[in-house]
Amino acid sequence: MSIQCTKVKPNGQQCKMRTLKGPFCWIHAQQYGVRVKPSGIHNLGLFATKTYRVNEAIDEYKGDILEIPIDDVPANKDYVFTITDNYHVDGENPNSSFARYINDSRGTNLRPNTKWAVDRRNKVVRVRAKRHINGTKANPVELLIKYGRQYWTAARNRAKEANDEEDED
Ligand SMILES: [Zn+2]
Repeated sequence: MSIQCTKVKPNGQQCKMRTLKGPFCWIHAQQYGVRVKPSGIHNLGLFATKTYRVNEAIDEYKGDILEIPIDDVPANKDYVFTITDNYHVDGENPNSSFARYINDSRGTNLRPNTKWAVDRRNKVVRVRAKRHINGTKANPVELLIKYGRQYWTAARNRAKEANDEEDED
């Protein structure tokens, strides 16, 4: 189901276009610097359509807030980012953020070009550039990250069985 683009224009009016993926329509996504499109790695991915400097913020991971103990987070939730043991962001909604579309670099020979920046005090998690990212509109660069089992509750629950993964470097 699509939503109306959440971008408010300088004249105070909300953009009237609609979007299926992320909070903005494709025009405003591109102005923002990203694009959701099919990925060679997994289904859809998030691509940079502009240059990002090292450490530059790319997007905030948003979603429904779950204020429940970590062990009560359902293991079938694939988009839950755990900020503290009792505070989690569920990005399952396709419109919740662009960051939710970033694929893990695992299983590829590519190095992650983004990283999580977790602000536990303000309960916010952002994605920042880990290295210089040279995306353009004509040649978007796929953003890749290490999910990290310490953040992904569902993945962590699954990892209790497969205890072989490495954390971020
Ligand atoms: Zn728009």
